[in-house]
Amino acid sequence: MPSAPSAVQDSPSLDSLRWKKFPVLDDGFVTVVDVMGNDASVVQAARVSYGEGTRKVSDDRQLIRYLLRHAHTTPFEMAEVKFLVRVPMDCWRQWVRHRTANINEYSTRYSLAIDSMQSTGNDGWRSQASTNRQGSDGFLTNNDGHPLTQSEQELQSLARRVYEERLQAGIAREQARKDLPLSTYTEAYWKIDLHNLLHFLALRMDSHAQLEIRRYAETIGNEIIAKLFPLCWEAFLDYRVDAMRLTRLDRGVIQRLASGATALPASREDFKAAQDESWVSLERCRERDECFAKLASLGLVTES
Ligand SMILES: Cc1cc2nc3c(=O)[nH]c(=O)nc-3n(C[C@H](O)[C@H](O)[C@H](O)COP(=O)(O)OP(=O)(O)OC[C@H]3O[C@@H](n4cnc5c(N)ncnc54)[C@H](O)[C@@H]3O)c2cc1C
Repeated sequence: MPSAPSAVQDSPSLDSLRWKKFPVLDDGFVTVVDVMGNDASVVQAARVSYGEGTRKVSDDRQLIRYLLRHAHTTPFEMAEVKFLVRVPMDCWRQWVRHRTANINEYSTRYSLAIDSMQSTGNDGWRSQASTNRQGSDGFLTNNDGHPLTQSEQELQSLARRVYEERLQAGIAREQARKDLPLSTYTEAYWKIDLHNLLHFLALRMDSHAQLEIRRYAETIGNEIIAKLFPLCWEAFLDYRVDAMRLTRLDRGVIQRLASGATALPASREDFKAAQDESWVSLERCRERDECFAKLASLGLVTES
């Protein structure tokens, strides 16, 4: 028989979190509208499969950790969170790729576009990364960023003025909006179950995700989910965020290093060169870089 929620208590944080606006970027926010479930809902769902057992909090914690460690994902789908978010459109475009959520977005066909665009301060301009075509690497100086910030302000003011002139000329909102920049903020209700939310957070809190969406993911994770689902969050950090996947090739490298068959490389370049010459196992340059980063995070080599 399905059981009532077990020893894990209702989250005391929900009332204090609901409708609280967590600011993100210069004018964005995340707020919790509604929550269904908590750590206990995950435990309750799992116990349908695994039986009652004892009902101590420590057991619930162990159960949640077991579920997350072994990717028994469906119990995490039993909890849901509904957010209201305010996000620049370029960031939103990445966000909506996560298809497992339910969305209702502010309509700029029906209503005036929100009069706010994400702007970048003098110190907020990032350089193109040389190693990763998708990423950025380091910030411009204030001096170099200053003209970029100025031209951004001019562009955004012009775009808004043209938009409003079109509306005054009687142009339909659905057409008047077409030249608004991607920095324009939009708002949406976003509802997602805990399993898919953790998947979203794992991808978007990662250092490979764009900084802007990362700020949203970090806020959702650290400010909201950590409080609403403390046991799930702890397990998520331990077994997803701070975990490391070793491929067969990675393991081969580590085994050779551990056995002394290969000397520890002094630098990333040494490591890559050694891979080319002898124990060619990691096929692509990028994969070798990734393997080296794993060795560094294990403390086996030093990033130069
Ligand atoms: C750092 C980064 C860079 C990216 N770069 C690009 C890019 O350059 N171009 C680009 O187009 N996208 C890019 N993406 C988006 C990425 O490819 C995914 O679309 C996005 O992260 C959503 O992931 P998801 O499909 O796992 O999530 P969700 O859509 O939430 O789906 C969750 C899971 O449900 C399952 N699922 C959902 N829908 C289906 C379906 N229709 N069929 C089968 N299984 C399904 C899958 O197991 C999936 O992992 C990038 C994402 C990240 C994090």
